[in-house]
Amino acid sequence: MLSELGFPMKFVNWVMQCLYSVSYSILINGCPTKPIPAKKGLRQGDPISPYLFALSMEYLSRCLAALAEDTNFSYHPRCKKLDLTHMMFADDLLMFSRADEGAVKALFDAFTKFSLASGLEANLHKSEVYLAGVSDHVASNIVSLIGVPQGSFPFRYCGVPLTTRKLSFTDCKPLIDRTVARIKRWTSQFLSYAGRLQLVKYVLFGIQLYWCQIFVMPKKVMKEIQRICRCFLWSGADADSRKASISWEQLCFPKSCGGWNLKDLTVWNKAAVLKHCWALALKQDRLWVRWIHAYYIQHRDFWTMPIPNGLTWSLRKIWHNREVFLQANGVDQFVQAGKFRFQKMYKFLHPVGAQVGWKRLICNSHASPKSTFIVWLAVQNRLATKDRLIRWHLSIDGTSGLCQLENESLEHLFFSCSYSQEIWNQVLLSLGVNRTVLPWQEEVQIAVKKSRSKQKQACKYSIAFIESVYCIWLQRNAKVFRDHVDPIETVVSNIMFNVECRYQ
Ligand SMILES: [Zn+2]
Repeated sequence: MLSELGFPMKFVNWVMQCLYSVSYSILINGCPTKPIPAKKGLRQGDPISPYLFALSMEYLSRCLAALAEDTNFSYHPRCKKLDLTHMMFADDLLMFSRADEGAVKALFDAFTKFSLASGLEANLHKSEVYLAGVSDHVASNIVSLIGVPQGSFPFRYCGVPLTTRKLSFTDCKPLIDRTVARIKRWTSQFLSYAGRLQLVKYVLFGIQLYWCQIFVMPKKVMKEIQRICRCFLWSGADADSRKASISWEQLCFPKSCGGWNLKDLTVWNKAAVLKHCWALALKQDRLWVRWIHAYYIQHRDFWTMPIPNGLTWSLRKIWHNREVFLQANGVDQFVQAGKFRFQKMYKFLHPVGAQVGWKRLICNSHASPKSTFIVWLAVQNRLATKDRLIRWHLSIDGTSGLCQLENESLEHLFFSCSYSQEIWNQVLLSLGVNRTVLPWQEEVQIAVKKSRSKQKQACKYSIAFIESVYCIWLQRNAKVFRDHVDPIETVVSNIMFNVECRYQ
């Protein structure tokens, strides 16, 4: 095969040496046996393996391309204009032909020629034949001719389901299962809010990158995945066991607008669909774009032509979405240097709320992510303090556990409670700030002002504020759940230690 492709004999001999000089040896009771020569195949992990694979696939492509000259062969009716006989990705191979015995046989003979030359065979148990528009009689003849079982849509290619109709909830079930599996690992139970947020971001990112870019996803599936992620973020489990403190919608806002910049999957998916739209209008040099142009657009203008008949569900969706560009006064603002600006489209489709006054505290935070998350909840008064729990009709004792004197609320906890006031007071003294402790809102204002500054002292101050709120919240929880509180000196020295560590 190599010599037929025109490689010099010397090179061919080198490659053959790699193939013939392989031998294996087995360790028995710690002693290697006599080497066993291998008849064919490379050493495991030999770096030339992918190159040889690519070369043999080139040979396969040529065998199949030669079919064009074969009078027995006829193209699949939807592949003739592009001379398409096959598509492959790694070791996944799709072959197309007209569903008549002569054409299928010619296709198979071409593949057999490749098999004999290369020694690579198709696993018939893992292969399937898909037939459309033929009678049962013809179908069964073809199936028995090639000895491959008949399959049905949707089937999986490169790990994703292929189908002409709308993806159903069941088709997407593997995606949902994978999402659940990822966040259900036992280690994730012990994550802080910030850790869970990171995991949710990572899970969502994977879906955005793969499924959302390829398919028009059903809204129901996107909603379900967001629901799983939301429950996990707030409760660490996949069941609706606890109320969300902040809406998912707000979590999808940029940080400056009080969110965490999560991506709204439905909107992201829409942006991906619009990217396909743009690719079609631009006549991008991609196989699928060429195919649609050859069979459906046929030299008409994509923007103004009527929606063609006989489109698959997802193509129809792409066509329908042209309207978005028309409303946005054209495509140009979403294109830069010939590339589609995905983020810009996402922003256009996903309006966000106003900026929040405390954005600097969260955005520029040098404090640890887990403390920043707690402060983010605190500035919005969404920590589960006892006054809020009572408002949710939980019958609990509302007294602050830390001082046993007053009722627990956000304002009491930060920092009018005698215990936390003393902590914040000592932290302030360690920072060289000599003033009385102020009410919560005023303390937040000061911290926000400090976080705008780049000065060393100001930076330390805002870290100290965030770490103090977090440590006090931890002490409050330890009191509620374990009836234990650390001495003030220990807490203060922990805070100051964290500040020094984070400041670096
Ligand atoms: Zn108290």
